[in-house]
Amino acid sequence: MPTTYTSPPAEKTWQDHLILNEFFEPLTLEQPRRTPMRELISTILSHRTTHADEELAYDRMLEAFGDWQGVLDAPTAELAHAIRTTRWPDTQAPRIQEVLRRIKAERGEFTLDFLAEWPTEQGLQWLTDMPGIGLKTASLVLLFNFHKPILPVDTHVHRIAQRVGMIAPKASADKAHKVLLEQLPPDPLVLLNFHKHNYWHGQRVCFFTKPDCPRCPLKGFCNYYLEHYGPATPEALAATPKKWDTAWGALPH
Ligand code: SF4
Repeated sequence: MPTTYTSPPAEKTWQDHLILNEFFEPLTLEQPRRTPMRELISTILSHRTTHADEELAYDRMLEAFGDWQGVLDAPTAELAHAIRTTRWPDTQAPRIQEVLRRIKAERGEFTLDFLAEWPTEQGLQWLTDMPGIGLKTASLVLLFNFHKPILPVDTHVHRIAQRVGMIAPKASADKAHKVLLEQLPPDPLVLLNFHKHNYWHGQRVCFFTKPDCPRCPLKGFCNYYLEHYGPATPEALAATPKKWDTAWGALPH
């Protein structure tokens, strides 16, 4: 039986995964990644900041201060100036220095490699105990860099899960993290693809304002679609593209 508007949330979540896996390019766990330290600091810089501005801030920071010790020792105002392309440099600069200070104090060097050996929950707790590191940032580092079975829920994953009906309409991002994780198998490959595909879908199709529903392959069971257009007709379903066409634009980072 096909998944419909009234199907259970867990079924919608799994169907979302299968369909978007087909719609976008399925990824492998062996994607080239940034180092864990870079992932962590870049994710702090990326808060409400475009990818280009985040990269610029990161490059300027390392150019100005050389390495993590240099960033830690830098006058905070100068660090804020170096990362000025981010949204809140005056908040992020002391935060980055505090994170670096704690890592150096606890581990003796600027590395997160020990997290590979730690259980997921322990790593999550350690990371989220640091200032400015939330569930999303910690999950990104643990999934992308260490292939731990955890799901980062960013604004796109959260919005699509609400609209489709994978979670309750008003469920918070932290709640979505828990619910979606229970609905999906504890397989890092599935979780990585689910995260990236819904992130791309939110960036390219299911926009915050005016989602491009006619192009969306989830319309046959998405609550938002039902509310705004009524049940998808056979014609609408037949006209829906099965694959992302690169002529529509490159997929984001
Ligand atoms: S049908 Fe529309 S609202 Fe639903 S997931 Fe697709 S683009 Fe988003």
